[in-house]
Amino acid sequence: MTETQIGADTLDAGTDTRGVSIRNLRKRFGDGPYVLDGIDLDIAKGELVCLIGPSGSGKSTLLRCINLLEKPDSGVVRVGDMLMGQELRDGKLHALRPRRYRAQQARIGMIFQQFNLFPHLTVLENVIEAPQAVRGQSKAEAVENARRLIARVGLADRENAYPRQLSGGQQQRIAIARALAMEPDVLLCDEPTSALDPELVGEVLEVLRDLAESGMTMIVVTHEMAFAREVADRVVFMSDGRIVEQDTPDRIFTNPREERTRNFLRRVL
Ligand code: ADP
Ligand code: MG
Repeated sequence: MTETQIGADTLDAGTDTRGVSIRNLRKRFGDGPYVLDGIDLDIAKGELVCLIGPSGSGKSTLLRCINLLEKPDSGVVRVGDMLMGQELRDGKLHALRPRRYRAQQARIGMIFQQFNLFPHLTVLENVIEAPQAVRGQSKAEAVENARRLIARVGLADRENAYPRQLSGGQQQRIAIARALAMEPDVLLCDEPTSALDPELVGEVLEVLRDLAESGMTMIVVTHEMAFAREVADRVVFMSDGRIVEQDTPDRIFTNPREERTRNFLRRVL
């Protein structure tokens, strides 16, 4: 434990409690090196942050700590008014765990590289499952919401299709509709287009762009630099478990301050 440990009390009570705040987040697997080594990050409600960085820099682990798929070793994550992680008080680590863990986790949407749709359920059934099971919606209410969202991602005519009958791009759009059906406070996307054939990338990015414009709070890990440049409010560059640099896309892509950022961009652009 280092004395730079920062607790929940340092999360400024005056900040907008509807976004995401992360303080001194640290995570390692077993006794390996820290794959997150003191992350501090604030995302305002309605902001779209693109997270970029080399493979292995900790981007996925960071998203997984935000949505409680991984337990941080120390540090604090706040999503909306939900606080979790561990905080140091009086020289001791205290676990902070949301009271209604499952319900809280449901407020954080997650989109993965592999779409993770239920293969034995139709498009409509995929989208109505969680709202009924976790949020207690009636079937009629869940179906009405699902139809609206399936139309929103441009697949109104495919509600009875099974995932295997859809292209990768269509499957990912349904995965987005499924996440939205839970009315998340924040949507985390982990390389949402990396598994797609190049000609299908655009339709998924188009849906994400539409969501950003509607005010959804989003963290998108991506290698699509054109998307980051065009749509992100802010670009965060990570390397070796730390945030090296963060700024507007314009600044990051035209005039990065750090050598490591320049080297990375030289390789990917
Ligand atoms: P990125 O998404 O930026 O490629 P990751 O967050 O997936 O990076 O991984 C960061 C580091 O943590 C890597 O060295 C990876 O091997 C390691 N790592 C991730 N998940 C695990 C795990 N479950 N067990 C052990 N090591 C892991
Ligand atoms: Mg990753």
